[in-house]
This record gives sequence, structure tokens and C-alpha cells, in this order.
Amino acid sequence: MHTEDNCIFCKIVNNEIPSHKVYEDDDVVAFLDISQVTNGHTLVIPKHHARNVYELPENIAADVFQTVPKIANAIQRQTGAIGMNVLSNAEEIAGQTVYHFHIHLIPRFGHDDGFGAKWETHMDEYSQETLKQLATQIKQYV
Ligand code: AMP
Ligand code: ZN
Repeated sequence: MHTEDNCIFCKIVNNEIPSHKVYEDDDVVAFLDISQVTNGHTLVIPKHHARNVYELPENIAADVFQTVPKIANAIQRQTGAIGMNVLSNAEEIAGQTVYHFHIHLIPRFGHDDGFGAKWETHMDEYSQETLKQLATQIKQYV
């Protein structure tokens, strides 16, 4: 297992600092986010240290993402949430503060429940031709 010195989430994986775990298997841990943006806010992480989604090996991604539905449903059952935001921040501009890949599960209870994301549409500025070009350009790197 790849463990990085001074990584707070590696320390949680190794039980070197306390956390409130809701799920653990050979490859994955889920635990309550200390900030509890909304009640039940949980982080799902691989035990393998990877900085963020850009550096996540595909097999590790599979391990982590396959646990998400059951953890999301468990949170939903316990909290009675009416929805959930599932997100992962990569790099500072996107709000990443801990550089060990993690998925936030943020259950939602209403418009003023503590979670907010600005989400503008720019649909009017993109023609079908522009979208086609953009998709072709991205596709070359996949
Ligand atoms: P991000 O800003 O996307 O990198 O998310 C990092 C998250 O880790 C934040 O929501 C923090 O509240 C959370 N966090 C930091 N330290 C701990 C900790 N010791 N236990 C649980 N959650 C933590
Ligand atoms: Zn780590």
C-alpha cells in the first residue's frame, strides 16, 4: 500500500489519528467529514495514497467508486436526506485542501442546508459545431 508521510488521510487509514468510520474493506475507508457541511457528510477514500483524480490508478478508482452507492444509501436511510451531492475537488482552484483523493457524499435537506455550489449555464454561447470540435479535441487525449 502506498502511504505518504504527513498525509492526514493516510494517518486515518492507518488509525494513527482518530476518525469516525462508517465503512471499511481491504481497499477503501469511509468516515465522517469533520466539517459536517450537512448532517451525515462523509468522505470515501482509497487506502492507496493518490493526490487526486488525475493521479488515481484505474483499478483504485474502481475500488472506491464501487462502494459509493451502498454508502450513499446508508447515509440516506439514516438521515432521511432528500438528495445528495457527490463530488471530488482536484487542486486548490477546485477547493481541494487535503491532497489524498476523496469523494464527498453530502446529503441534502433543503436549499439553505449549508451546501452551496455556483452552477451557471453557458449553453447560449456554445453552438453544436463548437461542442463537436471541443469533444473531438478532448477525445484525442482519452
Ligand atoms: P477538500 O477541501 O475537498 O480537500 O476536502 C477535505 C475535507 O477533509 C474537508 O471537508 C475537511 O473538513 C475534511 N477533513 C480534514 N481533516 C479531517 C479529519 N481529521 N477528519 C475528518 N475530516 C477531515
Ligand atoms: Zn494519503
